[in-house]
Amino acid sequence: MLLGGAASGAPGPAGSSEDQESFTFRASHAVRTIGGMDVRDRTVGAIVGLALGDALGAPFEFRRRDAIPDPLLAFELEWMGRPPGTWTDDTAMARNLWTSLIDHGGRFEPDDIVARHLAWLATDPPDVGNQTRLALREAERGTADAARAVFERRGPEVSAGNGSVMYCAPLGVVRAFDREALIDEAPALSMLTHWDGRCRTAVLSVTLAAAALVRGDDAEAAVVEAVGAVAAHEGGEELEFLVGEAGRSRPVDGPDMGFTLFAAAIGLRTAVEAPDVETGLREVVGLGGDTDTNAAVAGALLGARHGWGALPAAWLDRLADRPQLEAEAEALSALVASGEPR
Ligand SMILES: [Mg+2]
Repeated sequence: MLLGGAASGAPGPAGSSEDQESFTFRASHAVRTIGGMDVRDRTVGAIVGLALGDALGAPFEFRRRDAIPDPLLAFELEWMGRPPGTWTDDTAMARNLWTSLIDHGGRFEPDDIVARHLAWLATDPPDVGNQTRLALREAERGTADAARAVFERRGPEVSAGNGSVMYCAPLGVVRAFDREALIDEAPALSMLTHWDGRCRTAVLSVTLAAAALVRGDDAEAAVVEAVGAVAAHEGGEELEFLVGEAGRSRPVDGPDMGFTLFAAAIGLRTAVEAPDVETGLREVVGLGGDTDTNAAVAGALLGARHGWGALPAAWLDRLADRPQLEAEAEALSALVASGEPR
């Protein structure tokens, strides 16, 4: 893949120089209106796109690829007895994250995020990941580094699930213009529930890509940079391989479905290769496996790239709680814009 370079105002690859950073910042006013869209459109696109992908994929969760109808039945099937358009734990936890950010003026407050996750857990939601449930219960008991305790007890074989990558994109969105903070906070977000280094790698790559796309960077450059930034991290090389091969030579609907690097890789690739949001999300769900999470990550990145107006209108009409989600996404976008260099 080629880097987009300075023509799009895109920052360089990992380790880019201070000069390149300041070039990007000086050029930011031009960047924010690339393609006729601004930061607000891309922010709302990312947030609502996450929920849209989640709801699209929900009825097909954990199916083998050959058990998914083609053409896909989009927003036509129930999920757990609830109407089409219902979203799952991915959006619920993402919402805990973005409402925490909104209520704290954009600050990352890990204790508050955990408190919101615990309040959600107390509502007895229909689907909670095993690792997430164990880590939150541990946190509730007051254990420091709760996810670490769970990781050390259970071991790495069962610890690299996608429970943190599935909801991380809003952090990347709100840090679109603060890469330094994002690099600190993204792994910390993952470690609230998922201590495994591969989960941190997945979260960092997806949030970096989300940030770049919200800034208006070229999509291919954004993804190349995000994958390059984690190349030396645990699972970084595997991620690079999977960006090309997940769901192709490497199936994602087998016994290891739900692997954090599958969700990250599929989302990153789709953000670059899909011609539009609807085509991309249909293809992701068609791969089978953890369809709601894979499509939630892809939906966030596609929405960040193509903007709110590019989300399929017929799907939005059926999305549960659409007005509230859109209003919250707009509130978040005010924080992104206020953090924008002038
Ligand atoms: Mg889910």
